[in-house]
Amino acid sequence: MTENLSGKTSIYGLIGYPVEHSFSPLMHNVAFRALNIDARYLTFSVKPNQISQAIIGIKALNIVGANVTVPHKSSVISYLDEVTPLAELIGAVNTIKNVQGNLIGTNTDISGFVRSLSALNFSPRNKTIALLGAGGSARAVLVGLADAGASNILVHNRTASRAENLVSEFSLKFAKTQLKSVSHQKILDTPLDLLVNTTTVGMESNESPLDLSQCCKIRHLVDLIYSPSQTGLLKQAEKFGISAINGIGMLLYQGCDAFTFWTGKLAPEKVMKEQLLNLV
Ligand code: NAP
Repeated sequence: MTENLSGKTSIYGLIGYPVEHSFSPLMHNVAFRALNIDARYLTFSVKPNQISQAIIGIKALNIVGANVTVPHKSSVISYLDEVTPLAELIGAVNTIKNVQGNLIGTNTDISGFVRSLSALNFSPRNKTIALLGAGGSARAVLVGLADAGASNILVHNRTASRAENLVSEFSLKFAKTQLKSVSHQKILDTPLDLLVNTTTVGMESNESPLDLSQCCKIRHLVDLIYSPSQTGLLKQAEKFGISAINGIGMLLYQGCDAFTFWTGKLAPEKVMKEQLLNLV
């Protein structure tokens, strides 16, 4: 890898805390290599109280592009020069492009999630969809689904007030989508075109956030977790014949869309996907 580094090599990176576990460096470096782009993608471990210095550093060091992850996706916005409308709407940026010292922020988690639904051959338009969870990823998923024309989105969260806040924040912004904060029982009783798990339940254990044997009817399912690649929820989906995917597609497509935002080139999706599948 080092033999092609030169004084002209462009630097990209991931800003977060922690960042050591991230799959993004391998995914983006394989993409740069596949397209013969003289660039490298690194990780930058940035503590919460150092985010302003890190962003100023992007300009000073002429870093060409960056991804942003937990815990900086919201706080980074105030240090950017421009933010795209959907990123502004959800108040979270995961990708920054440095255009001659002008830092532009966008959010490719939204488009990445929606693109990942193609593996299910699923379009959100006029569909009834339930989200489990109301954290950072739920915001991106909700906005992506409402923006793509979902007719009903039910949100259930362990801490009900967070789901209520999420729904009230976006209800006026997406007048054509009915958003509702609902009970666990309501999720079980409603026929769903799609169920999306955005909680962390299933990451550390075989636990599932929902007992699918109690559910009325679910046609499609996405678990945003990608490691482990098959969670307790996905195992149940398989058992009940529900067409389902894990979060690797969202991870892949947020990366592809970030790559295109930075370089203006179509991302080499196939090699990026192969790299990710080798990691999980
Ligand atoms: P987050 O902001 O910390 O939100 C966590 C959510 O999980 C909250 O709604 C929380 O509910 C819920 N939760 C946690 N423990 C729970 C439990 N024991 N029972 C019920 N609910 C529980 O996290 P996030 O950033 O949204 O990430 C959530 C998951 O999505 C993670 O597994 C992450 O790996 C995955 N993710 C995947 C991608 C991808 O590209 N595939 C991208 C982003 C995130 P409370 O509000 O009640 O605490």
